Amino acid sequence: TSEVRSAMYTPCLREVAVERSRTADELRAALAGTPGAGELLVHYQPYVLLSDPSTVAGFEALVRWQHPERGLVSPADFVPVAEEVGLIRPIGLRVLEQAAARSAAWHGLDRSRPWTTSVNLSPQQLLDVDLVRRVREVLDRTGLPAELLTLELTETAMMLDLDGAARRLQTLRDLGVRIALDDFGTGSSSLSYLHQLPVDVVKLDQAFISRLGQDATALALVRAVLDIASALGLTTIAEGVETPSQLRMLTELGCDKAQGYLLSRPVPADVAQELLVGTRALGGVGAFTSGAVG
Ligand code: C2E
Ligand code: MG
Ligand code: MG
Ligand code: MG
Repeated sequence: TSEVRSAMYTPCLREVAVERSRTADELRAALAGTPGAGELLVHYQPYVLLSDPSTVAGFEALVRWQHPERGLVSPADFVPVAEEVGLIRPIGLRVLEQAAARSAAWHGLDRSRPWTTSVNLSPQQLLDVDLVRRVREVLDRTGLPAELLTLELTETAMMLDLDGAARRLQTLRDLGVRIALDDFGTGSSSLSYLHQLPVDVVKLDQAFISRLGQDATALALVRAVLDIASALGLTTIAEGVETPSQLRMLTELGCDKAQGYLLSRPVPADVAQELLVGTRALGGVGAFTSGAVG
């Protein structure tokens, strides 16, 4: 039977491996700018202050891969491969460059409005001893004030090398860069660690927010996280806000910011700029402001 089993499993595993190595080759070509290999793009999803929900406060930069055959590929389908084959550092650096350059240009449109930009870092980027130097170089090259850049990391990333991560993140904070704890409420996220991590912002995961209004436990958990975060002086942002009632509850609970499809999906840079300058309205806000919250 062991022969039968291996006959059944081996081709399947091999297919997965072949597919991954093809994806890795194609990603490498895209990074190198090989003609026809497609392009790594950055889309931008706005977030708002709940005290002023019709105005963009800033954007999260989210990578996409414009693939010649597969179309627009989501990061869920290639970031794990990039991490596995050691391509996430160059890809992450590319995203940081692009997002910082765009953000600096937006800053130039109106210096009185401190629009911020958030960029996701993979655990491997946090382990990179050159991270601080690379971030500083990007800020210098693009002219983006450090205060307008937030770097998003998961707790898992910080736990891999707690001392090294803490040191690197603190150096970045000393430059003025903000650090956000992404996907809080998933995996091993723990309230008891919150005060030990060198972070400025807590992003409540969508899994929390989607259950708001459906069960009392979710409401209690969100309230607890928001209360502790505010006691620690952290800024709070809710991810994955999809309904006006979630937005209303988060406002009542004292959450600082919100991000989600209710306001806007991630959009290309030109559309993001229209949202920023107000020539295009955020979605759902009409329903929200004409509703119960005054
Ligand atoms: P994340 O950092 O937690 O980003 C939020 C994800 O939630 C984005 O998915 C966004 O499109 C999605 N989202 C936002 N609002 C809503 C909503 O209301 N409903 C639903 N259903 N989804 C919403 P996306 O762009 O597919 O990115 C997925 C993940 O890929 C990100 O999760 C992040 O972990 C990773 N990622 C994206 N860009 C980068 C990058 O440049 N570098 C690295 N290392 N990871 C990235
Ligand atoms: Mg994020
Ligand atoms: Mg997140
Ligand atoms: Mg997430």
